[in-house]
Amino acid sequence: MKMILIGPPGAGKGTQAKRLIDRLQVPQISTGDMFRAAVGQGSPMGLKAKGYMDKGQLIPDDVVIGVVKERLTKPDCKKGFILDGFPRTIEQAKALDKILDEIGALDHVVVIGVPDDYLVERLTGRRTCKGCNYMHHIKFDPPKKDGVCDKCGGILYQRDDDQEVTIRGRLTTYHGQTSPLIDYYSGKGIVRKIDGTGSMEAVAGSIAKAIGA
Ligand code: AMP
Repeated sequence: MKMILIGPPGAGKGTQAKRLIDRLQVPQISTGDMFRAAVGQGSPMGLKAKGYMDKGQLIPDDVVIGVVKERLTKPDCKKGFILDGFPRTIEQAKALDKILDEIGALDHVVVIGVPDDYLVERLTGRRTCKGCNYMHHIKFDPPKKDGVCDKCGGILYQRDDDQEVTIRGRLTTYHGQTSPLIDYYSGKGIVRKIDGTGSMEAVAGSIAKAIGA
């Protein structure tokens, strides 16, 4: 099972990917998670990536493609994978096509659609815990005490990439650079469009139905 999840920031790609890996027994490959880990470790790649991520911009294609190429050669990808957040540009999709020539074609491209204003509300309300990384939401999952994590008592903060100006920028990037991928893949007959505005369960159900899982 080789699949890609495409959707704007905050559409729930990561959450849905995590649900699918249990069901499908293939790894989730999230470039966003990989770069966040590199930033956390302070590695040279992380330092380079941080500037782009904080501004809501894409990391240059050559860097991202190199990281994904290396990851896809790992033994756990033999049975397949769920790519979450890659490809994000046509250039990345073309590089992925070259890799797939060697390892076999994609089965599904799942596109999770959510309107921009809905996403802005979802993302600007997120408050992440400095201690345990748990994510509260000021409207949908408010902490009992303002600014304090219910799970561990840590301090809650708003991530740079959850500020409204950054999110609007990321949405512009998505519409300009990533959504053209839907047309790129539609000729192959593997695009499955999902309404991402429902509950986590509802969206998971739609994806499962669309991919016959
Ligand atoms: P995500 O968690 O997928 O929203 O990714 C967070 C940030 O990491 C993005 O806003 C980009 O700066 C960077 N990033 C993740 N994946 C890619 C990619 N495929 N191409 C370029 N930049 C990426």
